[in-house]
Amino acid sequence: MVSHSQPDRRWLTAHGAEQEALHGRAAELTRSHFGRRVFVRGVVEVSNHCRENCHYCGMRRDNRALARFRARHDQLAELLIHHRPASLTDVNIQTGEDPVAVREVVVPLVRTLRRETPLGVSVCLGTLTEALYDELQAAGASLYIIKFELSDAARYEQLEAPGTLAERLRHIRLLAARGWRVSSGFIAGLPDQGADDLLANLRLARELPLDGCSVSPFIPGEATPLGHAPVGAVDAALNCMAALRLLRSEWVIPAVSALNLTGADDGYQRGLRAGANLCTINLTPSEIRGDYLLYKRERFIMNEERVLHAISAAGREVSRTSLAEHWPAKPLAIPVLAG
Ligand code: SAM
Repeated sequence: MVSHSQPDRRWLTAHGAEQEALHGRAAELTRSHFGRRVFVRGVVEVSNHCRENCHYCGMRRDNRALARFRARHDQLAELLIHHRPASLTDVNIQTGEDPVAVREVVVPLVRTLRRETPLGVSVCLGTLTEALYDELQAAGASLYIIKFELSDAARYEQLEAPGTLAERLRHIRLLAARGWRVSSGFIAGLPDQGADDLLANLRLARELPLDGCSVSPFIPGEATPLGHAPVGAVDAALNCMAALRLLRSEWVIPAVSALNLTGADDGYQRGLRAGANLCTINLTPSEIRGDYLLYKRERFIMNEERVLHAISAAGREVSRTSLAEHWPAKPLAIPVLAG
């Protein structure tokens, strides 16, 4: 079984038997590269302060009704050192775009976790300075998750996605060249997005220097300009996930919890049957979780029980190897950020 060099437009609209065959091929390719193993990480959402104003996201700065929080280092360190689920091999630390939280909470937390636990550390913190990327890396984080969101530069600007698309892509390349493992991703089913846009997203993903990529179905967010837009179709998101797998057999592709918010209860499990090989357990303390508002307050929270159930129902098993161990250290090539 071989990877494809370009996405096929028919993959995006596949349904019925054709879709089953597409997802089956993606699952087979995943199995040939990773066996039955699924990586399991935890996520902690450290801050919902955000200087960006993305039209799709509930944490956008114009959402003045949202109670903003920054979690404390000690609270999260205690949770992750002493009370984490046994199945975790990695943790992802996520925030709105909040450099203050990165300096005051995230960098010390990464240091503590690397010193006190065997966990691999990923971060998803938005577009920062080179100095902050270096600090995080020196503290011991090895995977940076930074989604390009959508590949149409004009629409990206209209939706006030972070900075500009060109800048976001420059940062993705910069991070990869500075020795980070990088995972990116895009939203499928934003208003006015058709098959050609999704195809362009897949092409862009394929040409970036990535180690992983995600697809999240669009979920209309409370208190956002897109709050009344229709939900992204789960089948389009799943077909994109399968397409990513067919393009890059070696990528780590997450099953995202939003797959269960599209109205399809089995979206998450279908993700694991369509090329995904990473699950995430949400560990954000419940008293702050409600304000980490990507879409709605009633998020579908993937706890350990639900994740383990989905993995075994899909005939897969939990990986004992962490993402950080899976990827060997990368050789460095230091590029210039400007330009
Ligand atoms: N601030 C960081 C950044 O910009 O990378 C990380 C946090 S950001 C809230 C995490 C991701 O949530 C975004 O990259 C975006 O893809 C996703 N997201 C936000 N709102 C969404 C929505 N309504 N539907 C689907 N995905 C959404």
